[in-house]
Amino acid sequence: MKFLSAPLLLAGLTLAACDTKTATTGEAATSAATVEKADTAATDPAAAETSGTKAIAADEANATPAPDPKTIPASSAGNAAAILARPQVPILCYHQIRDWTARDSKGAKDYIIPVAQFKAQIKMLADSGYHTISPDQLYAYMTTGAKLPSKPIMLTFDDTDLDQFTVARPTLEQYGYKAMYFVMTVSLGRPNYMTKAMVKQLSDEGNVIGSHTWDHHNVKKYQGKDWETQIDKPTKTLEEITGKKIVYFAYPFGLWNPQAFPELKKRGFVAAFSLAEKRDQNDPMFTIRRIIASGYWSPKTLRNNIVQSF
Ligand SMILES: [Zn+2]
Repeated sequence: MKFLSAPLLLAGLTLAACDTKTATTGEAATSAATVEKADTAATDPAAAETSGTKAIAADEANATPAPDPKTIPASSAGNAAAILARPQVPILCYHQIRDWTARDSKGAKDYIIPVAQFKAQIKMLADSGYHTISPDQLYAYMTTGAKLPSKPIMLTFDDTDLDQFTVARPTLEQYGYKAMYFVMTVSLGRPNYMTKAMVKQLSDEGNVIGSHTWDHHNVKKYQGKDWETQIDKPTKTLEEITGKKIVYFAYPFGLWNPQAFPELKKRGFVAAFSLAEKRDQNDPMFTIRRIIASGYWSPKTLRNNIVQSF
């Protein structure tokens, strides 16, 4: 596991940050297959297909209304057995989207996806008929079994990197896709990170903003005032920026412990996202799984890993 200290993040380093490299130890017996990094060919057959009317189809899927999570009875969210029994929706996690440089380490490249590779991955999703869903749709599905569009998927972007606005946003727009952005508020407005205005624009355009703490400290180590610094204040900042209630959280490094659940719940969060490790059997809504879509993965590798990991 890598850990970047706060001073490094404060310095605005664009080194890939952030999450544990457990992208592959899922519930679905995926492990070795998902780690495979060899397939970097840009000439994947999926990328060569044409996408036709996919953008329209995605728009229709995105229009599916989802109830406000607050209107769903708490008993539904507390029924762990029912939630665990439903098939998981694939959720991808991205960090930086930029071409690799000589300074990028081998390990960092899981977190840095070259621009063409990113575009090819997203095109593959559209060509394969995937529909992006909102976290509210996911919540309604997980807690009540509410219907989702065919081939649902959720796209998430962590750590506030600027290229999520300059590269991901227009790419997703092409296909009518929406995403979830987990913002680390310490970075707002710093070089190579998004500004508050960009975060607001993403929110206004129908994407959902979630909290990713103030400066990416490990939730398992919080005590005393840490909850205020890492959770309360950033949540307030994000609510002021977006004008919307912030109810979704992503754990820095994907790391969590059950002690964090009541702390998050009493602060108004309804669900929290981790990485690929197994969900908590008592509280699956606070350990929703995601896989990191590695910079090494061709569209074909991504497609295989989606199927195997969820
Ligand atoms: Zn992160």
